[in-house]
Amino acid sequence: MKALSVQALREKILSGETTCEEQCHSLLEEISKTNKKFHHFCMVSEKVALEQARELDKKVKKGFHGKLLGAGLSVKDSICVEGVETRAGSKVLSGYVPPSSATVVERALAEGAFVLGKTSQDEFGFGSYSVNVGVGFEVPRNPFDEGRACGGSSGGSAGFTSLTKLTQVSFGESTGGSIACPASFCGSVGFTPTYGLLSRHGLIDYGNSLDKIGPMAKTVSEAARLLEVSSGPDNKDSTCVDKKTGGFESFVGKSLKGKTIGIVKDFVGNDLDFGVAKVFFDMVSFLEKEGVKTKEVSLSMNKKFAIPAYYLISTPEASTNLARYCGMRYGLSGDFAGKSFDEYFSEIRSNGFGLEVKRRLMLGTFARMSGFRDAYYLRALKVRRKLMLEFLELFKQVDLVVHPAMPFVAPTFSEIEKLTPVQHYFADIFLTPSNLGGFPHISVNAGFHKGMPVGFMFTANHFQESGLISAGSLVEEGAKNA
Ligand code: GLN
Repeated sequence: MKALSVQALREKILSGETTCEEQCHSLLEEISKTNKKFHHFCMVSEKVALEQARELDKKVKKGFHGKLLGAGLSVKDSICVEGVETRAGSKVLSGYVPPSSATVVERALAEGAFVLGKTSQDEFGFGSYSVNVGVGFEVPRNPFDEGRACGGSSGGSAGFTSLTKLTQVSFGESTGGSIACPASFCGSVGFTPTYGLLSRHGLIDYGNSLDKIGPMAKTVSEAARLLEVSSGPDNKDSTCVDKKTGGFESFVGKSLKGKTIGIVKDFVGNDLDFGVAKVFFDMVSFLEKEGVKTKEVSLSMNKKFAIPAYYLISTPEASTNLARYCGMRYGLSGDFAGKSFDEYFSEIRSNGFGLEVKRRLMLGTFARMSGFRDAYYLRALKVRRKLMLEFLELFKQVDLVVHPAMPFVAPTFSEIEKLTPVQHYFADIFLTPSNLGGFPHISVNAGFHKGMPVGFMFTANHFQESGLISAGSLVEEGAKNA
């Protein structure tokens, strides 16, 4: 659906044609109508949104003109928002209301957005279709076909961003592909920045060495604006780079003439869905007409080892992170009387975690146990370094690496039900490589196959976000003319 851009809405508010409160009411009304069917939100923060919007209107009268003025902001459930129940999609965090917001959320609010609510996701981010939701949560549905998945794990963010007819931007999070996958399936823009470009302060951790918060939006220019607003050093997160960034939006529409993109041959072979391949190669031809040079490249090592390495790194990290959910510090609690700590702890975790969380905790705990650590977790870290080097070699020859974001369009729920856990893990085969290496990437809709969106993905070298913005906006142009 088309909507007024963030910039156009901002101008209307500044000229007095509309107000933040009006926008907020319209968005809340739209959510109350659509959420019954699509379940993109697991929590709507109506009261907080209206309070924030009214405050903004008062500030506008005093001359405030923030860059996101009047835009609704939806936030993946794993990112903390002050005063709004935040559960990372899990029953184990029921009732947890953070005392402060994530740095990125604070920054977006300071520029004039208001928080609409928390978006649906796979529990703690463990999944590729947003079907691994926590106990008592609803599965979000694809805006193009409610019988199909939104993708995961930032499914609610991608789904609503694509569905809404109003001005809205969203924060998603990617550990191993959770921004690009749902963006591809829902036809929105998903931007995963370089690891460390955006602060992780206030993010409920999945795997600390992999997690990245990133913008999701209808257009590349809106994603660039949200990136601009939310990036920059943060002394609350020691892994956040001490680098002043900016000017991202100015790269929208910048020509790519003379630049070289590397088409990853390992990802566009015979096993790629025919319809997805057609959309992908039509877009490549468009880029070539626009003066972009193309070159075939290989990521063969990544194709073979990225998924196993990713699961041997992400699950041990997740299993340490999730140890804190013991029914005493946050969220779910129970009756302690007459029980040993072990009994109590087991009871809370048995009731509070879904099936996939339990599977990953077992896998992760095993892979980092003394006696196995060297063989699994530490070896996977060494493999990760090699996989990263494979990319760095490519970036000596090409400016950007390209392939479809996903090998297929959003599957139906009955197709997903038939998948084994390992088949489920392999859905992210194109996305895990860039995520393991901490490389920034963008997924932009390039067209449709069987009525479902197909995402075109670019990966750049570390901190080369600007190239992704120019390239992404060119794909937007190409898709318009397709
Ligand atoms: N699908 C991957 C996983 O299940 C990636 C999820 C993510 O990026 N949060 O771990």
